[in-house]
Amino acid sequence: MSVSENLRQVQDRVAAAARRAGLHSERVKIIAVTKGVPAERIKEALDAGIGDLGENRVQELTEKIAQLPSQTCWHFIGHLQTNKVKSLVGRIALLHSLDRWELALELERRAGEQGLTVPVLIQVNVSGERTKFGINPSELIDFLVDLQELHHVKAKGLMTIAPYVSDPEQARPFFRTLRLLARRANEKLPGDSLPLLSMGMTNDFEVAVEEGANLIRLGTALFGARVHLKQ
Ligand SMILES: *Cc1c(COP(=O)(O)O)cnc(C)c1O
Repeated sequence: MSVSENLRQVQDRVAAAARRAGLHSERVKIIAVTKGVPAERIKEALDAGIGDLGENRVQELTEKIAQLPSQTCWHFIGHLQTNKVKSLVGRIALLHSLDRWELALELERRAGEQGLTVPVLIQVNVSGERTKFGINPSELIDFLVDLQELHHVKAKGLMTIAPYVSDPEQARPFFRTLRLLARRANEKLPGDSLPLLSMGMTNDFEVAVEEGANLIRLGTALFGARVHLKQ
């Protein structure tokens, strides 16, 4: 199926999920995850109306930025090594994967050098799986309080990756927990400072939307199965 047909189907499913939960589907932004996808096929997504693309590797991201229109909004969604921060700062609209203090400090340093502010989401390891990156939920508030001292890193919300489950319904508690963590953080911190919830992938995005996701990260649903599995 063409990317535009896939997108239309995904949009219908997002709208239906939002309706089931009594939410507005316009508040849900689809980020097309383009790892392993050639530029030609990504252009189909852009032509179909996608404005936001996500990558999880710095090198692939830099290559794609050079190949695709400059007005594209890029999201970095993968684990980020501190030595790669320099080549990322100034090139992305949002970092979804701030998962440790050391990375926050390096972002602060590099963004400061360029006189920029980096918008970030805090990746939270809601499931507690040892293979997953992310801040422990019990440490989230302290982490956010510490972040307020950094002037070039601005927290905009939370991100999580649910465990891969055969029945997406089983992912619901993890999404719900992320939403409640954001709510609690918003109560404790000044202003409504964490409006963004990045949760839901091909396997589980409808449940994530029902639980309040406003950023969903979709690869397979839009582009088909990846030939080279690059997680
Ligand atoms: C690859 C990836 C996605 C997209 O995965 P699909 O299951 O293909 O939709 C979303 N989020 C992250 C962090 C990823 O690495």
